[in-house]
Amino acid sequence: MDGVDGGVGLTALLVAAARAIETQRHDSLAQDIHAEHFVRAAPACSEWPVRLQQVPDGDADPLWGRFARYFGLRTRVLDDFLLRSVRTGARQVVLLGAGLDTRAFRLDWPSGLVVYEIDRAGVLAFKERVLSDLAAAPKARRVPVPADLRADWVTALTTAGFDPAAPSVWLAEGLLFYLPGPVETSLIDAVDRLTVEGSALAFEVKLEKDLWEYRDSAIYTATREQIGIDLLRLFDRGPRPDSVGGLTARGWSASVRTPFDFTRRHGRGPLPEPNDALEGNRWVFAHKPRP
Ligand code: SAM
Repeated sequence: MDGVDGGVGLTALLVAAARAIETQRHDSLAQDIHAEHFVRAAPACSEWPVRLQQVPDGDADPLWGRFARYFGLRTRVLDDFLLRSVRTGARQVVLLGAGLDTRAFRLDWPSGLVVYEIDRAGVLAFKERVLSDLAAAPKARRVPVPADLRADWVTALTTAGFDPAAPSVWLAEGLLFYLPGPVETSLIDAVDRLTVEGSALAFEVKLEKDLWEYRDSAIYTATREQIGIDLLRLFDRGPRPDSVGGLTARGWSASVRTPFDFTRRHGRGPLPEPNDALEGNRWVFAHKPRP
């Protein structure tokens, strides 16, 4: 199954629904006018809300309240990271596991910037269909790259025009925990190989030693019971590599932050709670320094 109608592809729609809800909040952290159209175009989620007003418990709903706000905050923080990176010299953006990310359409990019979106063919085909029905116009040159990140995606990316000699910024948002540890390691290795000084990478990891311990957390339970997505079954449960250590050993600098750090900074977003499936989430911001 490589589309958005099941398996890990459906998680792309979950994030799109969260962004649709975030967009309509009075205290929105990020705007994504295309997000609700993805949700409405997919039969698998015809019953999902795209406005908080459609959620009976509103903000008290663990899935469409707290978890959706988490995705809204993550979107905003990573928007800011990408825009900062292009202001300081990156000419190419690579979205790994891009899903239904519409940053190529939403953000104000400098001229000449190229956005590469890597995901599986079925997800990108669905995305294309919805965006072309909307006649959506990107604000940068956008290059979808259908590829499986467990196979040879590097050839697909370079064949699509990515230039390893030009500074780039990379994003693995909501991705690495779905991939086996060795795939994460080879992916981070590839990013290091394909980047020059002045490039940057942000990614999300989960630090919990035993994800299963949080099986009964409100977020996992609500996601399983309300929309039938069992995240713990989709996450890879093998040992995780130390990707931050791997990058710093190669000379990158990295800062590791909790989402709650940004909730406090923005005055909006999830805060810690007992039995919290978000407790181990970390957002990593890495830079390959100039000499
Ligand atoms: N980064 C997007 C965002 O935050 O909106 C999407 C996140 S979604 C939770 C995870 C995405 O990773 C899905 O679109 C899925 O298709 C993609 N993905 C998972 N495993 C993949 C693989 N082996 N190759 C390519 N894409 C993959």
